[in-house]
Amino acid sequence: MSVDMNSQGSDSNEEDYDPNCEEEEEEEDPGDMEDYYIGVANDVEQQGADAFDPEEYQFTCLTYKESESTLNEHVASLASTLKVSPAVAKLLLVNFHWQVSEILERHKSNSAQLLVEAGVQLTSSKHTMVHSSHHCAVCMQFVRKENLLSLACQHQFCRSCWEQHCTVLVKDGVGVGVSCMAQDCPLRTPEDFVFPLLPSEELKDKYRRYLFRDYVESHYQLQLCPGADCPMVIQVQEPRARRVQCNRCNEVFW
Ligand SMILES: [Zn+2]
Ligand SMILES: [Zn+2]
Ligand SMILES: [Zn+2]
Repeated sequence: MSVDMNSQGSDSNEEDYDPNCEEEEEEEDPGDMEDYYIGVANDVEQQGADAFDPEEYQFTCLTYKESESTLNEHVASLASTLKVSPAVAKLLLVNFHWQVSEILERHKSNSAQLLVEAGVQLTSSKHTMVHSSHHCAVCMQFVRKENLLSLACQHQFCRSCWEQHCTVLVKDGVGVGVSCMAQDCPLRTPEDFVFPLLPSEELKDKYRRYLFRDYVESHYQLQLCPGADCPMVIQVQEPRARRVQCNRCNEVFW
């Protein structure tokens, strides 16, 4: 986390949060900070996220597993409705901030355009010529046909160039942003294209983490808890600024 140099030496805004300032009536007097936090920690263990009154908070703290299964439900249902692979459904969901009804509407009116916007297909006018030579356009080697891989754009590259491309990007922290190697090609690689190209389990784990981060960050109702090393995901009912407190690490944010 970066340090704001300007705030040094002056009163830091970060200290301004006072648990006693809440407008809502709380049954327990917060007392001193230590008791307050111990109390919160106990509440979490005993009652879990459902204990929050939605009228009061309008948010839920989800564990990694809970948020993953929420996301996966959307993916599975969209994939079966649109008859696309779950990996392609994910690209659509990310592009439209997981607003399923908007995706379905656009699919009804122009399904090809929907796939273009999500970086899954090229517009038909932009379709590339499938060349018969078995050249990789990156390393310029002759490659057997079965070792040439391409996305829907048909830009063909050899497996080892794809492996290198994906490895470099994932090492750099890229998740859903892994794209085709052809210059100016806007197509994104569905995750089921990338996984087999990553050479180690360690890298696959990294990719899985970056993808999850991107899914959560693109979702209009979800936010990763900014608390240090906190794996919680906050789900708000309506996407508007609102004070939220993580029930695991007690970080307060908007
Ligand atoms: Zn190559
Ligand atoms: Zn391409
Ligand atoms: Zn947290």
